[in-house]
Amino acid sequence: MNTFSFHNPTKLIFGKGTLEQLQAELPKYGKKVLLVYGGGSIKRNGLYDNVIGILNALGAQIYELSGVEPNPRLSTVHRGVDLCKKEGIEVLLAVGGGSVIDCTKAIAAGAKYDGDFWDIVTRKAAAQDALPFGTILTLAATGSEMNSGSVITNWETQEKYGWGSPYTYPKFSILDPENTYTVPKDQTVYGVCDIMSHVFETYFHHTPNTPVQDGLCESVLKAVIQAAPKLVNNLKDYELRETVLYSGTMALNGMIGMGIRGDWATHNIEHAVSAVYDIPHGGGLAILFPNWMKHVLKDEENVPRFKQFAINVFGIDPAGKSDRQIGEEGIEALRSFWNSIGAPSRLADYDIDDAKLDIMADKAMVYGPFGNFKKLERNDVLEIYRLSL
Ligand code: NAP
Ligand code: FE
Repeated sequence: MNTFSFHNPTKLIFGKGTLEQLQAELPKYGKKVLLVYGGGSIKRNGLYDNVIGILNALGAQIYELSGVEPNPRLSTVHRGVDLCKKEGIEVLLAVGGGSVIDCTKAIAAGAKYDGDFWDIVTRKAAAQDALPFGTILTLAATGSEMNSGSVITNWETQEKYGWGSPYTYPKFSILDPENTYTVPKDQTVYGVCDIMSHVFETYFHHTPNTPVQDGLCESVLKAVIQAAPKLVNNLKDYELRETVLYSGTMALNGMIGMGIRGDWATHNIEHAVSAVYDIPHGGGLAILFPNWMKHVLKDEENVPRFKQFAINVFGIDPAGKSDRQIGEEGIEALRSFWNSIGAPSRLADYDIDDAKLDIMADKAMVYGPFGNFKKLERNDVLEIYRLSL
């Protein structure tokens, strides 16, 4: 493995009834609270009332920023930053899925930056500080509750990029599986695809001697593969929600990939699609990932990883098959698994045709060739898009 240092400062609070721990955690960071949430799911399922009840009991001064979009937009970040600066907000509380948390991270860093926050997303400037924030996660998917990354869309220029900083780890994150009971079936499936994709971005690497990391990745994948088909038919099963929620955090909090440089090409390719078409991130990944796999499997040096994946994750029987055949069967097993739980499989499922492939490829290439398992050039990106039509 590569040399590494690991430090994840987020306090993870997990399990049934853990919301009440907000009472102990939040006051550590201030009384003037900006509550950040999305389009209203937390009002419909009662979580909003419960959170407000706790904030009132704490005597907090509550400000609200609602309407954070799925694929959160720069314009919303600006609204939040302005509010923080004007009111002297001391602490932020994100209640929602990855979009709400990512937006909160951006606001927290933007509140401590004098220029336009887009400078930080586009790497013209680096965040030097951030307001403290906590999260109450309502959707298993991104891992944003326990990492420092965030993905922001500039809808005016149709650009969507990830950014991160050492200052944007949540101070605490409260994860109660029951708070994910109302996530509808389609969003549950997108979450599962995102979680598995995060593991793939770590698992497909060429770093030598990573038996522990490989085992951790395979274990998360197998747990999700076992739980998801049952979960989509029983959305209020506590143990299944618990497994998937914990898997989502583990998939992207750095624990399974220490000493490995992840690939991250498929996430980059997907961001370019959702920048132009505003599709759900996990849905985009479900379409693109098997085609990235098919494309990179062409290189002989990549075959052994795919063989390991096929055998260890999907239990493909290797008897009498070439390594390449085994790898191909693994990819097909992934496709059928995602199809079986109702994930989209073609860009056409979102009415996307070949009209803007060049535009999307340009966006994906903005920082040059990318991907650590296989470096992708523009023609690779176009081929993966074409395979995905
Ligand atoms: P999301 O965009 O946060 O939420 C999707 C939808 O689910 C929203 O309409 C939301 O409604 C609804 N929802 C959330 N919780 C719910 C609940 N408990 N009950 C009912 N509905 C609920 O989805 P996400 O997949 O978590 O986040 C996607 C974003 O994260 C994308 O922009 C993606 O690029 C980014 N991402 C970030 C990271 C990272 O590490 N930071 C990693 C991967 C992806 P409301 O708006 O009404 O709440
Ligand atoms: Fe993701």
